[in-house]
Parts: sequence; C-alpha cells; structure tokens
Amino acid sequence: MFSSKALFRTALLMVVLYACGTSQPARRNVLSNTKPANQQPAQNNGRNPDQTTFTRPEQITKRRPPEERPVVNTKVERRQEPETEAPAATATTYRSPAFYKNITDSIQRVAAKPSYYKMTENLFKEMTVVPDPKNPAVNSQWYTTVNFDVRKPNFVILHHTAQNSAEQTLFTFSISRTSVSAHYVVGRDGVTYQMLNEYMRAWHAGRSKWGSITDMNSCSIGIEIDNNGNEPFSEAQISSLLKLLEYLKDKFGIPQGNFIAHSDIAPSRKNDPSKFFPWKRLAGAGFGYWYDSTNLAEPPADFNAILALRVIGYDTRNQATAITAFKLHYIQNDITPSLTDYDKKVLYNVYKYY
Ligand SMILES: [Zn+2]
Repeated sequence: MFSSKALFRTALLMVVLYACGTSQPARRNVLSNTKPANQQPAQNNGRNPDQTTFTRPEQITKRRPPEERPVVNTKVERRQEPETEAPAATATTYRSPAFYKNITDSIQRVAAKPSYYKMTENLFKEMTVVPDPKNPAVNSQWYTTVNFDVRKPNFVILHHTAQNSAEQTLFTFSISRTSVSAHYVVGRDGVTYQMLNEYMRAWHAGRSKWGSITDMNSCSIGIEIDNNGNEPFSEAQISSLLKLLEYLKDKFGIPQGNFIAHSDIAPSRKNDPSKFFPWKRLAGAGFGYWYDSTNLAEPPADFNAILALRVIGYDTRNQATAITAFKLHYIQNDITPSLTDYDKKVLYNVYKYY
C-alpha cells in the first residue's frame, strides 16, 4: 500500500540521516574484534565505551529549515484509552456522507489534518528515540539489523456502532474527546469508510482478552458496522463487508478463526455485533467458524464445556459471561448463561475447529 511504503521511505530516510551524523565517535561493529583508533570514551556520556552511539533525533530535525518544522509537543504521551463504547455524538455537529467520504478516504488526506500530523510525529519520535538507559540490553551492545518490517494485524474484530447513522460514527471517531476509533466503518447503504491505516493501532477493543492476548488493539483491525443493535443488517452492508474482509484476509494472511466479535473478546462488557449478525454466512465465506448443523456430533461423556470455551479463546474467568458471549455468536436467539444439550453439541462442534 502506498501509505505504508511512504512511511517506510520516511523511516529509511531518517535511518540514513541517523547513520550520517558526524558529531559522534565512529561506530564499532560488535561483530569485529578491532576497535576504532580514534574512539573517545569521554563523549559517550558515561556509557560503556564499546557501546554503539546514536545521533539524537533533535539533530535530524535541525537539518530542516525552521519554517518547515512542525509545532509539536516533544513529550510523547500515551493517552488513556476508554473502556466504554463511543459516547453518542450530538446530532447537530456531524456532517453529510459526502463530507466524511472526502476526508476519510486516504491517509494522505487525513495527514493534512494538524491533529493527525501531530499524532504521527509524536509516534515517529517514540519509534526513533535513543535507546532507553533503563533498558538493561542497551548497557551492553546494540547492533542494528537490516531485516525487518512492521508488525501486522492478525485479527479482525467486528462491532456494531449502536448509533443511528454512519455520519454520526465518523464524527465520533474524528474528534479527540471521545478517544475511540476503528479502521473501517461500513454504512447501512454499503459505503465503506477507511479512517486509519491498518498498520496503525485503533482504539476499538478496549479492555479485552482472547486466548492469552490482552492487548487486542495491537494485533487487530477494528470494523464498525453501522447498526443500532436492534435491527437486521442490510444486504448492501454485508455484501460490502464481505468484500472488505476478503481484501484484509488476503493482504494480511489473517486465519479464518481470527474473524471474531467484540462480544467474544470482552464478554462481560460488550454485546456487539448483535444477535442479528449473520455469522453463519460469514463463516461460509471463510471468516470465522460455524458448526455443521446437519451433522451435530454428540460430545463425549467427559466433555468439559468451560475448557472448550477457553480453547476457542474465551475469557472464562467469569463462566456465565463466557457462555453468554459464545451463545450470542453461535446460538443467537438464546443468550441465557447456561448450556443446554444442544448448546453443548454446538460448542463441541465449534471447538473441534480450534
Ligand atoms: Zn464494539
């Protein structure tokens, strides 16, 4: 994708500028036994003289003419993510679909927004910061590898917006005070809006757990489906969603079982997407699993349902909410926190996929 390539070109340029800094002693290849003749330990600020030294990012920014330098907060701050769904936006402040389509359809256009630019600038500073002196590893040696790329999303988390229009959701995600976001919003009419590059971390999962993963935002793409939670999903919307999922699955190599619900990963807090969501149809298209309703095998006598839920990924510290979340996904019309014989057959069938 062009945007990620552009990010890399910038990163590579920074690395090159970094390597070209001349004010520090010559680097020493730790794989070689020969020390540089002109090494001056006094300039290493108390570090091990054998340690490779670094040009500070400030020296790089000084290379730019002052008028091009963005005004940024040099202190990198991690914002507190909320644990609740997006608060409702006021009805008078969001705008037309055309407005949002125009400002959300590419990272290049979004990058023109000062707040987005400031955010990415701060993130870039965080990624290129001089190694933390508190890190025990950097007190010994740092030898840079050239073989790397960015971490990729490996899950897709599906949500319903619990709002009444895509414009309302787009507005909610485009203002900072809500502190919530998603990579994509799929409207009732099938129009899909991208709000964030997939390599970036959106704030959609909140406090959540799937298997042993407790930071789902870091490894997932969040898709918000425009739906108030009490209505069926439109054909146009599901059709667009399936096309988007096909693209994401192919691009990032996301396993079939890793297309899951917000309710799956946050069973005690979330119930989206609702019971109207067509999980069976999605599984038929290769996104998530579904049981074979025509041939439901009887589970063995020693079948442990809670252990099976854990194997699938559910957080079973609260067994009742884990059962409810499973049933919202696979039973849908009954979400009481207990498993009938039929529910156990479904669970046994699904569990065998994992
Ligand atoms: Zn959600």
